Amino acid sequence: MTLINNKKSLALLKLTSCGSCFDVMKDSMDDFLKLHNFYNIFDLRDKNKIDKKYDIVMLEGHPRTRGEIALAKLARRNTKIVIAIGSCAHLGGVYLQKNEPTLDKTIRVDYNLPGCPINHRELISCLMDIYWGKKFRLPDLSVCFECQKNGNDCLLKKGQHCLGPITRMGCDSICLNCGESCLGCRGLKPDANIDKMQDILKQNSSEKDASNLTTIFGKLIK
Ligand code: SF4
Ligand code: SF4
Ligand code: SF4
Repeated sequence: MTLINNKKSLALLKLTSCGSCFDVMKDSMDDFLKLHNFYNIFDLRDKNKIDKKYDIVMLEGHPRTRGEIALAKLARRNTKIVIAIGSCAHLGGVYLQKNEPTLDKTIRVDYNLPGCPINHRELISCLMDIYWGKKFRLPDLSVCFECQKNGNDCLLKKGQHCLGPITRMGCDSICLNCGESCLGCRGLKPDANIDKMQDILKQNSSEKDASNLTTIFGKLIK
């Protein structure tokens, strides 16, 4: 492929996280290498500081410490577009403590790539759409759509819990395909019927369990 001259600059920064979302970039080395035709990629995760302006900053993780909050704010000031990577950055994720603000309450976020971890194809689509000046959009349907397309038995109908009806699809219902329920790592789908979901969950489990279930990956229901 011919190299494109006007590459955009893309910086990678990490807050409190397990680090696996950025590892998804390596899931398809071919695609990752092709990204270099469009982006100059600066991996700042070791330095954990941002020293100049970038077109795009991808932030993985939840800002927990004062240093991380300052870093997120500095990243915002030094870039045109901030992409939050994974449920830690999107919802607070598994590291979110009670009463801690999420990344989107700390800085303005332009795009969220949901999931724990993120979906490699969505990452590439998002970066290519941004490169060509197009608005990147996530799918609107629920995980149930993918779950049923994949021929799984419905866990809710069997009296078990599952957050599929309110969760945004895009993971190919990977947990359901393995017999596990959806825990909502991709966040809410648009117009999710939360009241109805809570009623169903309470029928299948205690109120406390139902409430715990919706906070595993952060503030799914705010
Ligand atoms: S969203 Fe999940 S995989 Fe990604 S950094 Fe957080 S804990 Fe790790
Ligand atoms: S198992 Fe869960 S995701 Fe699948 S159809 Fe039932 S509620 Fe939806
Ligand atoms: S099925 Fe639910 S919990 Fe599992 S990856 Fe998909 S959105 Fe996340």
